[in-house]
Amino acid sequence: MTSKVLHSFLEKNIDDLKERGLYNEIDPVQGANGPVIEINDKKLINLSSNNYLGLATDNRLKEVAKKAVESHGVGAGAVRTINGTLDLHIELEKKLAEFKGTEAVISYQSGFNCNMAAISAVMDKNDAILSDELNHASIIDGCRLSKAKIIRVNHSDMDDLRNKAKEAVESGKYNKVMVITDGVFSMDGDIAKLPEIVEIAEEFDLITYVDDAHGSGVLGKGAGTVKHFGLQDKVDFQMGTLSKAIGVIGGYVAGKAELIDWLKVRSRPFLFSTAVSPADAAASTKAVELLMESTDLNERLWENSNYLKEGLKNLGFDIGDSETPITPCVIGDEKDTQKFSKRLYEEGVYAKSIVFPTVPRGTGRVRNMPTAAHTKEMLDDALKIYEKVGKEMGLI
Ligand code: PMP
Repeated sequence: MTSKVLHSFLEKNIDDLKERGLYNEIDPVQGANGPVIEINDKKLINLSSNNYLGLATDNRLKEVAKKAVESHGVGAGAVRTINGTLDLHIELEKKLAEFKGTEAVISYQSGFNCNMAAISAVMDKNDAILSDELNHASIIDGCRLSKAKIIRVNHSDMDDLRNKAKEAVESGKYNKVMVITDGVFSMDGDIAKLPEIVEIAEEFDLITYVDDAHGSGVLGKGAGTVKHFGLQDKVDFQMGTLSKAIGVIGGYVAGKAELIDWLKVRSRPFLFSTAVSPADAAASTKAVELLMESTDLNERLWENSNYLKEGLKNLGFDIGDSETPITPCVIGDEKDTQKFSKRLYEEGVYAKSIVFPTVPRGTGRVRNMPTAAHTKEMLDDALKIYEKVGKEMGLI
């Protein structure tokens, strides 16, 4: 017999979410997640994946993944610290360290668990973390897991950061103080003010942690937000994912060898959760090699995103203040946002609505993620559909 308490809890809360337009429907993609996808047997221009450079479906990555399956099988077989560390994981970490310009790298099974792992391996209840209020959920959860005092900082407000850093350090209550930020904020596409953050960190000896999930492969000609600002020697943790521009799965921290050594003995998902598969590790290494060899894909990404942004702006949509390919179309009301996204879908564009609690109430948006794999024709077709639905709903 199942629990009555659980049943009434679930029923009440799911109904409540549906009532408020906050329930997230999941539509499975039939086949590959490329620039055009198929859902419910319908072809759609895909503006919702994080596959920035189109590498998730790249033939060169598929080839090395197939070879890795042949030579190493489909699973790593164990956690990294028993015998799940394969030569392919070491090659990936070496290549990433070269790419990021750091002494060493540790990789994890996802970006999400990388944040959970790395923050809590270094920070504890006697420490404090200054965290931007718009930081990603995995940073928030990593901070909570560490039991450090979490001090929320107003979004990209350097006066607030400075005041709170000064207060935390001068209080003498904490052994260590960390400042943690997204490199690129995933919902608005703005870039963290890293030069100022680093300056404040130097003044107060703060540990610096940058989550570059959306900056790697995108900014700094692909090397990320830290490189974009030329601050490679000034950031302690350069965290990134292998699931977005790299097109595969996994997360990593790049930093000094002593930091990576510590994370290898102290971060729990490295110690207690099986490593990524051989195919994943080999495909990620190949992707990093491609990014190091050529900036062609990166340039195409920027061309496409500038084109889409210009097009949406000219149509009269509010695209916020994004400085990166992340292109929000802010609608506001949650139900209107969901209706807009549904109409785009019916007309042939997949651009997912993002509403509270992912973004603050009343700032619902359809988020567009152009990639290097889109053609101009696809973007033109998407813009025509945006125009049609925007006019129909009185948004433009
Ligand atoms: N950090 C940020 C800023 C992200 O946007 C994401 C992905 N949504 C993650 C971490 C988690 O990465 P992954 O999907 O690789 O677990």
